[in-house]
Amino acid sequence: MKTSLAHALEGEEHRILRETVRRFVEEKVRPVAAEMDEEDRFPRELFGEMASLGLTGLMVPEAYGGFGEDLLATVIAFEEIGRASPALALSLLAHTILGALPIVRYGTAEQKEKYLPRLTSGEWIGGTAYTEPNAGSDAAAIQTRAEKVEGGFRLYGSKVFITNGSEARLLVVYAKTDPEAGHRGITAFLVEVPAEGFSVSKNFEKMGMRGSPTSALYFDGVFVPEENVLGTMNRGFYQVMHGFNVERLTIVAISVGILREVLEWMLEHASVRKQYGRPIGAFQLIQEKIARTFVDLELARTYLYLAAREYRPDEDWRLPAATIKIFAAEQATRRALDGIQVLGGYGYTREYPLERLLRDAKLMEIGAGTTEMMIRVIARTLLRSWGLSDEDLEGS
Ligand SMILES: Cc1cc2nc3c(=O)[nH]c(=O)nc-3n(C[C@H](O)[C@H](O)[C@H](O)COP(=O)(O)OP(=O)(O)OC[C@H]3O[C@@H](n4cnc5c(N)ncnc54)[C@H](O)[C@@H]3O)c2cc1C
Repeated sequence: MKTSLAHALEGEEHRILRETVRRFVEEKVRPVAAEMDEEDRFPRELFGEMASLGLTGLMVPEAYGGFGEDLLATVIAFEEIGRASPALALSLLAHTILGALPIVRYGTAEQKEKYLPRLTSGEWIGGTAYTEPNAGSDAAAIQTRAEKVEGGFRLYGSKVFITNGSEARLLVVYAKTDPEAGHRGITAFLVEVPAEGFSVSKNFEKMGMRGSPTSALYFDGVFVPEENVLGTMNRGFYQVMHGFNVERLTIVAISVGILREVLEWMLEHASVRKQYGRPIGAFQLIQEKIARTFVDLELARTYLYLAAREYRPDEDWRLPAATIKIFAAEQATRRALDGIQVLGGYGYTREYPLERLLRDAKLMEIGAGTTEMMIRVIARTLLRSWGLSDEDLEGS
């Protein structure tokens, strides 16, 4: 019997990777996932272990110690980790997809030689600092500025909600280099921290994704040498927008992991819990929740794998990435709620991971572009294709 069409898109090497990651997750991640959440503890020790499996080098060429640029392998790995600990998956995403991948795409040979092996080996933790107190969805509105000085730049400004902010040794930081030019005046910098003039807030207390540290960062004249400009001057905004495609597909993989985990808990409980002398799985209202969770999982996963397999960096992937992100993020939250309902009182306790998965799932509707922003991307793209101009759509 065919149980999942998504698997038809995988190759043998993907199956091997999935098994390897699954074993690692069962042995090392699942046992600490609840404690990471309870104590909001970042599991630094797991980065060395993930490095030995190649996971800290996903999307990085092998020449730099990476796993290679296989996006389908990447989403499979994130799905497996996301089942047990979406928080660990989020920190790994910030490390690989936000920290290392921009260097793969835009770095000079020297930058790649210097930084990628340190990230892929897990010696250094990476991340990206874009969002600011006054610039979230409106990404062009950042105010952090880079002033030209002899031999490089000095950064002034602050960032907020930065994943791995308090743990990172290397950050991709975006700043205005031509403030008059709006989004055409933003540049990316590779910033080694700690550094003079750099400070970090205490980690935010979050409802979910606990154990993945999120902090505010302050730059008070931090010096960045000229050779640490990443990519082309004043093209940073475009670099970020391009990077969103892979980031969004990877975040979908975490939602898919949550959907899978929720479905398994539903099935397990519905088959052993008895009421009225029968397993609760015999009741149609419970069956509906199971069947709908399976449908969402199958649709999200098959679309994701297809997108990951077909993705080409030189093509415009905004529409598919936004489409699947809305669907997977919203359905993961909704089905985690259903999972709690199927488990009844047990689902509401911390003895079971459903309530944690619900809290973690919600982030995917906010991070890497909110659901409202995904709607905007989709609607504007479609309306443009029907002839509406930028002027017509201004302010939307
Ligand atoms: C746990 C976590 C980790 C994160 N990690 C990182 C990171 O590593 N690096 C980084 O740079 N950032 C990170 N972020 C920031 C994240 O990308 C932003 O939170 C997100 O882009 C939304 O920005 P905002 O929070 O400022 O919300 P706002 O942009 O202020 O949005 C508030 C609400 O208004 C809505 N809205 C805004 N504009 C419009 C519009 N035009 N039309 C309709 N609705 C609109 C939004 O959808 C949302 O519902 C993280 C955030 C969280 C919570």
